[in-house]
Amino acid sequence: MAEPFIVLKGIRREYPSGEGTIAVLKDIDLTIEAGEMVAIVGASGSGKSTLMNVLGCLDRPTAGSYRLEGRETSTLDADDLAELRREHFGFIFQRYHLLGELSALGNVEIPAIYAGTAQAARRSRAAALLGRLGMTDRTAHRPGQLSGGQQQRVAIARAIAKRPEVLLCDEPTGALDSVTGMRVIEALLGVNEQLGTTTLIITHNAAIQKLAHRVISFADGRVSGTVANERRQSAGEITW
Ligand code: ADP
Ligand code: MG
Repeated sequence: MAEPFIVLKGIRREYPSGEGTIAVLKDIDLTIEAGEMVAIVGASGSGKSTLMNVLGCLDRPTAGSYRLEGRETSTLDADDLAELRREHFGFIFQRYHLLGELSALGNVEIPAIYAGTAQAARRSRAAALLGRLGMTDRTAHRPGQLSGGQQQRVAIARAIAKRPEVLLCDEPTGALDSVTGMRVIEALLGVNEQLGTTTLIITHNAAIQKLAHRVISFADGRVSGTVANERRQSAGEITW
């Protein structure tokens, strides 16, 4: 049998602190199967974002093994990590990280440009995704002309436009009102179900925790518990 899609063994991340170091991730063992939707919960400062940065190849562990699709990543150099990132991952951050100079449509197109998708194809997909997220009449707006919830929907469309194998979301509904948050959750669930996108979501949102296949609790740099959901609610009618 093939090994799981993501395999972490003994992952540590330390930062320099005064004379010594402080460990933020402490010997984490974790496996994630392709197509899983996993919620990660835990107190502020417990290391969730640090873990996500390691998973997304934005950061490198101090020690331990991280295998992605059977390939050891911890020994790769910065260029190879950047390539892995482009090939495999889409990111949704709490604070959007949109480019202020570009329109909503322009922002959504960016990853597809890096992926080498032809202009007509990436533009029509970007427009379609924004439409599905209720943003048809906002595609020409710049981020500064959009509300927080609208900006987050642009960020989601951007992350899923190139159909990443893995979607990493850091508190994606944290800055949203509950109605906009539900819209974002529906999109994430639909993408996971229909495209089979492996999805990790750091979240305090109870609705997301109900929809995930597994909820992983984090405490003080370690995995403190895992709960599998027996029944998940299904995504709606929208095609992603
Ligand atoms: P969470 O996302 O669970 O709130 P983080 O992963 O952001 O937690 O941070 C975990 C701990 O690591 C915090 O105590 C934070 O201060 C520390 N930390 C994060 N990044 C750095 C850094 N670049 N240098 C030093 N300490 C850091
Ligand atoms: Mg965080």
